[in-house]
Amino acid sequence: MFDTHELGRRPGALKRLTRSAAAPKDFGIDGVIGVPEGAPVELKIRLESVMEGVLVTGTARATAEGECVRCLEPVRQDVAADFQEMFSYPDADDRGRSKQVEPADDAEDDEDRLYIEDGLFDLEPVLRDAVVLALPMQPVCRETCAGLCSECGIRLDENPDHHHDAVDIRWASLQGLAETIKDGEKDNMGGADDGADEKQEK
Ligand SMILES: [Zn+2]
Ligand SMILES: [Zn+2]
Repeated sequence: MFDTHELGRRPGALKRLTRSAAAPKDFGIDGVIGVPEGAPVELKIRLESVMEGVLVTGTARATAEGECVRCLEPVRQDVAADFQEMFSYPDADDRGRSKQVEPADDAEDDEDRLYIEDGLFDLEPVLRDAVVLALPMQPVCRETCAGLCSECGIRLDENPDHHHDAVDIRWASLQGLAETIKDGEKDNMGGADDGADEKQEK
């Protein structure tokens, strides 16, 4: 919650804030990557008083934690999320002319509007949206992460020469077949095998 009382309502009034807040629950992309609950979120905020409310602009910085989508290793990533949001005064009555202006835009985006209540506004939903947008949908531990072996699940980055013998055995038996053919059994092969024979020669 942020207080706008000090700012006052004079349009054009400005106030800058730097604040460290604890991350709320579910501050990120569920099950993918997010800022752990209670972790520090550094906020730089600029409040500007305008006719209909307070324009809030700022940046949130935090460290998100998740899992590499390729190798499942933990990922830590700094995130900087910019945001800007308008918080409106609910009591347009205070200024006679605002009341006449309001019905027009009220009809259009009343549902999306955020309001100042008793001089306070809640930045949390705005921050959450901004942080989610700034986070990767598919976090990786590094861009070149090779992921896991599809057969045994070992990390390929740590085992660059990793391979499975099963593949070698298959290949060896094909080589053995080619050698057998070269050894002179060629003439005994039926027509159907000629194709395979040519492939081996290539
Ligand atoms: Zn990875
Ligand atoms: Zn493997």
